[in-house]
Amino acid sequence: MNKHLNELIELSKLDKSIDDFTPLIVASQKKLARRTEKRDDIAQKISGLNAEIEDANMKIGSFEEQIKVLSEQLTLGVAKEKAVGTEREMKALQMEAELAKEKLKFANEEIERHHKILDVKASELEEVNGEFVKASQELDKVSIEVSKKLSSIDEDKIKLFGKRETKTIAIDQKILSFYEKIRVWARNTAVVAVKKQACCGCFMKLNDSAYAEVIKSDEITTCHHCGRILYLEPQSIQSQA
Ligand SMILES: [Zn+2]
Repeated sequence: MNKHLNELIELSKLDKSIDDFTPLIVASQKKLARRTEKRDDIAQKISGLNAEIEDANMKIGSFEEQIKVLSEQLTLGVAKEKAVGTEREMKALQMEAELAKEKLKFANEEIERHHKILDVKASELEEVNGEFVKASQELDKVSIEVSKKLSSIDEDKIKLFGKRETKTIAIDQKILSFYEKIRVWARNTAVVAVKKQACCGCFMKLNDSAYAEVIKSDEITTCHHCGRILYLEPQSIQSQA
């Protein structure tokens, strides 16, 4: 086979190997992003629960304050009752006392209700805190895994880039720039095999004379339909022989 063609086949295989790392990198980054998102969601749940707990505590405090005021009011009312002269005044004081007792009852009920809410929220918080610890540990684990994986990919890539550099230096620069131009649009299919007399890049059939050129491979041949560089699959060469 043509020496230049052989070099281009090897170079295109190398370029493909380098590009094949991209989906691996993306997958690793996605995995890390998913774990981070999971942990952040739990952190948000925790802050929501803490806000609800703070709210319930504030309400309990405000009802306790009300109870204090109402109790003082009641004590004062009892003292006033002793000093009243008329029945009308007495009735008014009794009504006031009734109202204060109603309010006291309501305040006590509300405190009780909010304590129940606090119990529920506290146990939810305990559970979610446990989830957070677990998610953080998982994230740490995945983070270490991913950074190991990425640095090993980096090492492999650096090796391949080194190999690529050696190859590109050895290749005729005109041929290299011809290849690079095709690679701009054809990416990893800049150099393709011919199978059953068809280009494996665009899958169009080559005419007999073009096919004969590929078989001869004296020079670098390109597909007349798409412009990709062509070579004959080794099996096809055998079947041709
Ligand atoms: Zn083609």
